[in-house]
Amino acid sequence: MPTAWKNCLKILKDTVPLTEYSVWIQPLKVSEKEGVLTILAPNVSAVDYLKKNLKQKIKVAVAQYDKNLKIEIGIETQKIKKNTKHATPLFSEYTFDNLVMGTANQIAYGAIRQIAENLKKSPYNPCIIYGGSGLGKTHLMQAAGHLVKSQDPKIKVIYAPVMDFVRNITTSLRHKTIENIKTYYQSADLLLVDDIHLIAGKEKSQEEFFHIFNFLFTTKKQIIFTCDQPPTNIRSLEDRLKTRFAQGLNLSLAPPELEMRAAILLKKAENKIININLNEDTALYIASNITSNVRDLEGALLKLKAFVNFSKQNNLIITKEVIDIALEDLIKPKINNIDINDIQKESAKHYTVTVSDLSSQTRKHHIVLARQMAIFITHEMTNFSLSKIGKHFGNRDHSTILHSIKKIKEKVENDTEIRNEYELLKLKLANL
Ligand code: ADP
Ligand code: MG
Repeated sequence: MPTAWKNCLKILKDTVPLTEYSVWIQPLKVSEKEGVLTILAPNVSAVDYLKKNLKQKIKVAVAQYDKNLKIEIGIETQKIKKNTKHATPLFSEYTFDNLVMGTANQIAYGAIRQIAENLKKSPYNPCIIYGGSGLGKTHLMQAAGHLVKSQDPKIKVIYAPVMDFVRNITTSLRHKTIENIKTYYQSADLLLVDDIHLIAGKEKSQEEFFHIFNFLFTTKKQIIFTCDQPPTNIRSLEDRLKTRFAQGLNLSLAPPELEMRAAILLKKAENKIININLNEDTALYIASNITSNVRDLEGALLKLKAFVNFSKQNNLIITKEVIDIALEDLIKPKINNIDINDIQKESAKHYTVTVSDLSSQTRKHHIVLARQMAIFITHEMTNFSLSKIGKHFGNRDHSTILHSIKKIKEKVENDTEIRNEYELLKLKLANL
C-alpha cells in the first residue's frame, strides 16, 4: 500500500464516521505511480458515492502528505469477472409458477412478488422470510431471483446459502483475498441470503457480512434473507445485525393447511420429474395423513412413484388402498383390527351395564356415559363411519354419534376420572 494512502487512511479514520469508513474507504484498492494516486472502487455505485461524498475529504487528507499528488478514482473491473466462481446457481424449478399459494404463505408470496416486480423501488429492504424447515423459504426466495432475471437479464442476482458465504470468507482469509469476495457480494443488485441463522457464532463472517450488508443497503440494493426463526431470537448473532434485520420486513411462513397440501401434491404430481396420476381425492387423502411440511409431501410422492413404477401391475391406478400400502410407514398407523363387539362387551363390563343397554333408548345417567364412551372408542379404534357406528348403537343417526363423541372428548380432556376410565378401557382392548 502506498505510504501516501496509509497516511491518508489514518486521517480519514478520524474524520469520517466509522460505518462510512468501513463501507466506502476500507475496500478501496490504491496504487501510486508517477505522481498519481489511483483509487479503485469495487463498482459503479461506490465510484459515484466516493466522487459525491468523499473525494474532497480524501484530497485534503492526501494533500497533508504530498500536495502535488493527483487523485484518480476508477472502477476495479477485472475483479468482478474473476469472482464469478463464488456463485451458486438458482434451481430452475423454484419459480413463482411452481409455487402454490394458500393461507399459509399468501402474505409472504405477495410481498416477495411485489419486491421482485419493483426491485429498485421497493420500500421493503431488507426482507426476511422465516419459518420451519421444508415450508418453502428457499423456493420463494429463488422465485424472486428468477422473476427479476426474467424481467431484465442484466440485473445481477446473487444467491448465497449462508454456509457458502462462510466458506468463501474462510478461504479468502487464508488466501488474503477477502476484498475480492466482498467485491463480489457487493456487486449484487439483488442479494439472496439463505438460512442466515447458520451464521450465528461465526464472528468473522458476521463482521464481513455486516459491511457487505451496509454497503448494499446504503446503495439501495435489495437484500432478502431466509431464517428458520424470527432473527431477533437467534442466539450468538451480533446485536447490530439483529437491529438491521428488525428494521426490515419480516414475513413468516406457516405450515400449509390441508387444501394447500393437496394442491401442492397435485402440482408436484404433474411435474415431469414425478409424473404420476393423482386425483383430488387421493391427493386429499395423502395430505390429510402427512401434515408436517412440504418436503415430506414430496418424499411421499417419490415413494408412491417408485411403488407404481416397480410394482408388477401395468397401469396401476392410484387408489387409497395403493397409497396405504406404498406409504405404509409414512401414514400414521390406524388400529383397524379391533372388533366393535369387543368394544361394546368391554365397555358394558367396565360400567356394569349390559351390551343391550348400549343400544337402548334409556337416558339413565350411567348408561348414557357407558354408551357414549363405547361410541367414542369405536370412533377412535375403528375405521367405521359415523352412520355405521350409529347402526351398531340402536340405529342412532350420525349427528347423535357426533354429539356423543364431542361429549366424551370434552370429558376426557377435563375430567381425570373419565380420562383414567378411557385409558384403562383402551388398554384392555389393545391387549385382548
Ligand atoms: P425451506 O427452504 O423452507 O426448508 P424449500 O423452499 O426448500 O423449504 O421447500 C421444500 C420443498 O417444498 C421444495 O421442493 C419446494 O419446491 C416445495 N414447496 C414448498 N412450498 C411450496 C409451495 N407453496 N408450492 C409448491 N412447492 C412448495
Ligand atoms: Mg431452505
